[in-house]
Amino acid sequence: MKILLVDDSIRTRLLLEKTLEEAGYNNLVTAGSAAEAFGVLGLHDPAVEVDVDLIIMDILMPGMDGIEACSHIKEQAHLRDIPVILITSKNETGFLKEAFKAGAVDYIVKPLDKVELLVRVRSLLLLKEEMDRRKTREQELLEVTRMLEEANHKLKEQTAMDGLTGIANRRRFEQFYENEWKRSLRDATPISLIMADIDLFKAFNDHYGHLAGDECLTKVAQALRQVVKRPGDLVARYGGEEFIIVLPGTDQAGAFVVAEELRQAVADLNIRHAYSRVSDRITVSLGVATRIPKAVDEREKLIASADQAMYRAKQESRNRVCVYGTA
Ligand code: GH3
Ligand code: MG
Ligand code: MG
Repeated sequence: MKILLVDDSIRTRLLLEKTLEEAGYNNLVTAGSAAEAFGVLGLHDPAVEVDVDLIIMDILMPGMDGIEACSHIKEQAHLRDIPVILITSKNETGFLKEAFKAGAVDYIVKPLDKVELLVRVRSLLLLKEEMDRRKTREQELLEVTRMLEEANHKLKEQTAMDGLTGIANRRRFEQFYENEWKRSLRDATPISLIMADIDLFKAFNDHYGHLAGDECLTKVAQALRQVVKRPGDLVARYGGEEFIIVLPGTDQAGAFVVAEELRQAVADLNIRHAYSRVSDRITVSLGVATRIPKAVDEREKLIASADQAMYRAKQESRNRVCVYGTA
């Protein structure tokens, strides 16, 4: 460990060096003034890698004295943890109160008592070592915490996402819808749901195979998501080939427009479906339901309404939009 010795007297510096070296402390650096010590420490430059573990500094020095120098060192966050021992003469002990206020942890009195010096140096170096260890552990812990948070975030995203289509899953829908319902209830604003179901998808699967079916589902999901661009809206996979769209703050007329756009976007995908009675390509039927919430527990009803409207679209001819409550 490295010790910085600061004293204007060459004699005292040599004595300190000799005593410490004899005791096995070979990593010493000396300075003849506070200014020189600041240079070694890179006082005003936190980028400097400081490897000093202990400072032993004279109080009485020409220019800046040891107490002021100590308080300057302690003001720097990157130097704060280096213990400082101040050296005082027998008749200067009046300075001690100030010295501790400036952040010194210990003092030794001139003329130097070798044993006393070595005992203090040893215990303060042990203290510094322990502090360094603790700091490293803290940093490791911070890093682990950060990694955990990141993993947690990813996990949350994954559990909210449908594995096949990459859009929100049913779970995410439930959570999102509950929050938005409550918000609409508070603000007395409308909320709309659109239920969309692929037409004659069983026949598609039967003829083109399940893999082609999966691919089609993914394309449809992405097409739906492209239409619904407002950040407050959500497109989720509700079931097998059923999707649900939440449009907070959107009235019936607005939701109908969005539903029409969704229907058109799926048709525009031009996915061939030779076995559909409705069209030669993949189409969807959609049901729209809108409500200004009046109670927290009514939100299932709105889902049922959107579902009912969607089934009417199926009955009427498929590849169309029906609005609940407008027979
Ligand atoms: P309708 O127009 O009345 O909705 O007819 P449909 O054939 O789409 O309706 P039905 O509910 O009878 O069939 C849904 C089919 O969707 C059943 C299944 O073959 C298919 N399906 C559901 N989930 C998946 C999936 O994850 N992957 C694939 N490939 N197919 C699925
Ligand atoms: Mg279907
Ligand atoms: Mg279905």
